[in-house]
Amino acid sequence: MSDENDTLFSKIVRGEIMADVLHQDGYVTAFRDIAPQAPVHVLIVPNEPIPTAADVEADHEPILGRMMTVARRIAEAEGIAEDGYRLIINCKEHGGQEVNHLHMHLLGGHPLGPMLTRIPPHLNETDDT
Ligand code: AMP
Repeated sequence: MSDENDTLFSKIVRGEIMADVLHQDGYVTAFRDIAPQAPVHVLIVPNEPIPTAADVEADHEPILGRMMTVARRIAEAEGIAEDGYRLIINCKEHGGQEVNHLHMHLLGGHPLGPMLTRIPPHLNETDDT
């Protein structure tokens, strides 16, 4: 396998790096984030190392659909489905993506507040600094 396909998350998918895996099927693997930002913080990743959301193709639609249904099932299993939760996919540098293997964050367990808590300075017209 080429290095660019051998991501940290591919190693978790193959069981070469330990993770708290909640679900695995032929399309996706779901495991708890190592640095949780909410009481429930799970990552749902394609087994195939699609690098970013900007790389998805029509062929990937079954995988992308599975990511959504697995998110729903894990939210139910974790007891956060009724109160609600947030699904996030960061894409590339401006999206804050750190691991170059497509992944969906499932976050919940308490109120998460506004989607963006800090307005970037270049968008904040009232900022005189
Ligand atoms: P992103 O910033 O969207 O690329 O998110 C990457 C996420 O991967 C972060 O929330 C990290 O805490 C998480 N992460 C990094 N390494 C591991 C790991 N070994 N096991 C589980 N989660 C990880």
